[in-house]
Amino acid sequence: METITPSAVREGRIRIHAPRIERVRLTIPAREALEAGGSTVTEVAAQPHRLYYDVDLVRPPAGIRRVLIGQWPEQHRGLRMADELPYPGEWPDDVIAWYERGELAPCPHAGCGLALVWYEAGYVPGYRVCLAGHHAQLASDGRSARAVDSYDE
Ligand SMILES: [Zn+2]
Repeated sequence: METITPSAVREGRIRIHAPRIERVRLTIPAREALEAGGSTVTEVAAQPHRLYYDVDLVRPPAGIRRVLIGQWPEQHRGLRMADELPYPGEWPDDVIAWYERGELAPCPHAGCGLALVWYEAGYVPGYRVCLAGHHAQLASDGRSARAVDSYDE
C-alpha cells in the first residue's frame, strides 16, 4: 500500500474522502460556517420537533465546537459556534473525548486548514492525515494538531 503523501493525493494515486460526522444537531451559524468551508450538510432524520444532520467535513470552521446534549434516551451530539449560547441541556465541554474534539481540528500545515482523517495504523493514537495528504499529530486534548513531516513536501 502506498504511503499517503501530498503528491500522491495531488496526482490522484490516492483519494481521501471527507470524514463524516454522523447524526448531530446543528445551529444555523454552525451550518452556515460549515457550508462556507465546502462541507456538505445532509438532513438524515426528521422528527416532529428535531432534526439531525450528517456532515461531510472539508474545512473545519474556526470556533466550531462539538457538544453533548441532554440525557439518555434523548442524548445526542451537536455542533455550534463557540460564541453561541449553549444548547438547552448541554454538558460541560470536558465530556467530549479528545479524539472526538480532534475531528474538528484543522490541518496545521501552512496554508492548508483542511479536515483531518484517522491514520493511526502503524503510528500512534492521534495520528492523522488531511484531505490534501499532509501528516499531523493531534494534541492530547484534541483542540489542535501539530504538523508532522509529510515526506515529499
Ligand atoms: Zn493539510
